[in-house]
Amino acid sequence: MLPFKLVYSDGYYLPIGSHVFRAEKYKCIHEQLLACGIAAPSDFVVPDPATDQDVLLVHTPQYVQKLKTGTLSAREELELEVPYSLELVRAFWLNAGGSILAADHALKDGVAISLGGGFHHAFPDHGEGFCMIHDVAIAIRRMQRDGKIRTAMTVDCDVHQGNGSATIFAGTRKAGEPLPSAPDSTWNPSWMAGTGMGNSLADDVFTISLHQQNNYPEFKPPSSIDMNLPDGIGDGEYLACLGNALSMGLSKFKPDLICYLAGADPYREDQLGGLSLTIEGLKERDALVFRTAKAGGIPVMVTLAGGYALKLEDTITIHCNTVIAARELIGGQG
Ligand SMILES: [Zn+2]
Repeated sequence: MLPFKLVYSDGYYLPIGSHVFRAEKYKCIHEQLLACGIAAPSDFVVPDPATDQDVLLVHTPQYVQKLKTGTLSAREELELEVPYSLELVRAFWLNAGGSILAADHALKDGVAISLGGGFHHAFPDHGEGFCMIHDVAIAIRRMQRDGKIRTAMTVDCDVHQGNGSATIFAGTRKAGEPLPSAPDSTWNPSWMAGTGMGNSLADDVFTISLHQQNNYPEFKPPSSIDMNLPDGIGDGEYLACLGNALSMGLSKFKPDLICYLAGADPYREDQLGGLSLTIEGLKERDALVFRTAKAGGIPVMVTLAGGYALKLEDTITIHCNTVIAARELIGGQG
């Protein structure tokens, strides 16, 4: 039995047919964790869908209305890059509910992993790049609304830049409720001058994105820290960059919760990625995030985000390894 919860529902499956995004990965990961004895059935908790009220903490009423009534324009549907359906809307609402539940459990147990989510290309008023709504942002805003956290940090290790996260947390809150308390009055973002970091620092959520520069999205709105990685870098360089980003971020910002997007797509055999990490390197990456969070006493909620390896089994292995790394590093067995 794991010392933390895994959040999963068969309803995470995205009904998008034959697609480079193999949405059956969620079910396969669930099965593999059980089959290998990494997790027991009692380690899993089943989420409810997010409520519309939760979704509206991040997304505009107009966009939510379009999603729920099937009235996206042809261009908006195209931008999603997954075929719209009401079933798909339900699956995304459930993934968002899963991220909320994972955040809640992470605050109790130090870590929790949703075997879904990480839809970081969703914006307040539109979706793109396989992402309809931003489950991680919704979870953060819900935890803040409930007074469970004041600040959060996204650590986005998907190979694609977290453009939705950068935009949502750039201080342009278009929907949602005020924060439960005022930001720290001693907080002064002027330290960023000359550091080469972005200037979109929100007062309550710090965004770190480690991604391949020459990849989607073409326009990358500034995160608090963007690590624009060159094509083809391997484990060593990647881990050094991640270590730098984490220590730089945590020296300036003290989050109540880390939201780790453990994308499997920096893998060297990924079809939509151009980095060269190995499966072992990706596990070390997970370990580095967990070790850092544990050292800082910061709870971590994990979502899976992307993963498009040529062989589905590699994507599954990489995601399962994230659970193993959490067990080894945070669960007291490491
Ligand atoms: Zn990705």
